[in-house]
Amino acid sequence: TVKTRFAPSPTGFLHVGGARTALYSWLHARANKGEFVLRIEDTDLERSTQEAVDAIMEGMAWLDLNWDEGPYYQTKRFDRYNEIIDQMLKAGTAYKCYCSKERLEAVREEQAAKGERQKYDGCCRGAAPRADDVPHVVRFLNPQGGSVVFDDQVRGRIEISNEELDDLIIRRTDGSPTYNFCVVVDDWDMGITHVIRGEDHINNTPRQINILKALGAPIPEYGHVSMILGDDGAKLSKRHGAVSVMQYRDDGYLPEALLNYLVRLGWSHGDQEIFTREEMVEFFNVHDINKAASAFNSDKLLWLNQHYIKSLDPEYVAKHLEWHMKDQGIDTSNGPKLAEVVTALSERAKTLKELAASSRYFYEDFEEFDAEQAKKHLRGVALEPLKLVQQKLAALTEWTREAIHQAIEDTATELEIGMGKVGMPLRVAVTGAGQSPGLDITLELIGRARSEQRISKAVD
Ligand code: GLU
Repeated sequence: TVKTRFAPSPTGFLHVGGARTALYSWLHARANKGEFVLRIEDTDLERSTQEAVDAIMEGMAWLDLNWDEGPYYQTKRFDRYNEIIDQMLKAGTAYKCYCSKERLEAVREEQAAKGERQKYDGCCRGAAPRADDVPHVVRFLNPQGGSVVFDDQVRGRIEISNEELDDLIIRRTDGSPTYNFCVVVDDWDMGITHVIRGEDHINNTPRQINILKALGAPIPEYGHVSMILGDDGAKLSKRHGAVSVMQYRDDGYLPEALLNYLVRLGWSHGDQEIFTREEMVEFFNVHDINKAASAFNSDKLLWLNQHYIKSLDPEYVAKHLEWHMKDQGIDTSNGPKLAEVVTALSERAKTLKELAASSRYFYEDFEEFDAEQAKKHLRGVALEPLKLVQQKLAALTEWTREAIHQAIEDTATELEIGMGKVGMPLRVAVTGAGQSPGLDITLELIGRARSEQRISKAVD
């Protein structure tokens, strides 16, 4: 069965590039009814932190990219890596290298002077073993002739001559295994069938394949995903705006929008733009990942966000909106149900952050009317329709949008004026500002007591 993994190095938050790689790996597993593993590559002790691990898992959870196994931590598997290295030493597929720094430096200089490729010259291959406590590194005995060929799932056939590959150090002088070696043992032990990762790892692949072969391990399929560029063509970085997945949550995006955006960033299925999670799983094929780099387009992401705010179940959107209400210090315990607010406002909001901000008046009284709006709509003759609609609203036996609508319409008819002449002062009175959804819904949601109180304040 198919088994993929996401293997982040925990040196920072989950960024959009990492999230896309995780998504593709997750989709490949789900599309093939396989399994998805989370592996934390924390061998770089200086740069790895627990906060970063937590942040990565928070990002994965927010995107709902669930894993079936893990998280595994490489730092907890050192005994296993060393066990394999010792076996390789016995089998002769690895050897101890006693070369001093000075000697290695001299070899490199000589190679450079001759214009040759700089690499380890194999001096300690077949060297007689010395006492165990003599300082040494362990090197992988890379095959000398031939080449490594693999069929990259994204980029096609790739061939690298063994000539170009060094006898890689797999254990340092201090006894710690090196990064490439840990990855190989992990992919093998964890039964990974498909490695989908960033193209920055493409040079590691032939080295990893050689080690896997030496171990008699099956070789997974590899797919290297191109990088993401900013709108200026440079590699995406913080200066292009948000790159952390959680920053998108904070900015008011739904996970569905970011996922849909990321899946299309470098992958396509015909000319379809909108994909539900189920459709992504149904249609995803690693071979359809684009070889070329993709440019990040914030406008498109915003467009998708608006689409999902409008089209997802309001109860579901409300759950995400709740976070923003809290974030903006709006107490939602006294006021309409959030899902109803979502229904009323979803056509107008591009982000949940905006939606939260523009729904404050449903829950809280405001101190002042917007000065400019008040000047236009809450003064002199403009107040007359407001006074009449106030009476009609007071006479209502039930506070429903239909009844409210009727009261507004009757006021306009009676005064022989347009609906706007009634609506604008009413809108400014109950919301404090000049923008809101339909007044009937707005007043219904604000509630009778609050609406009447605010109108009284306005006509005063
Ligand atoms: N830990 C590597 C990274 O974060 C990924 C390595 C891999 O996927 O093989 O870039």
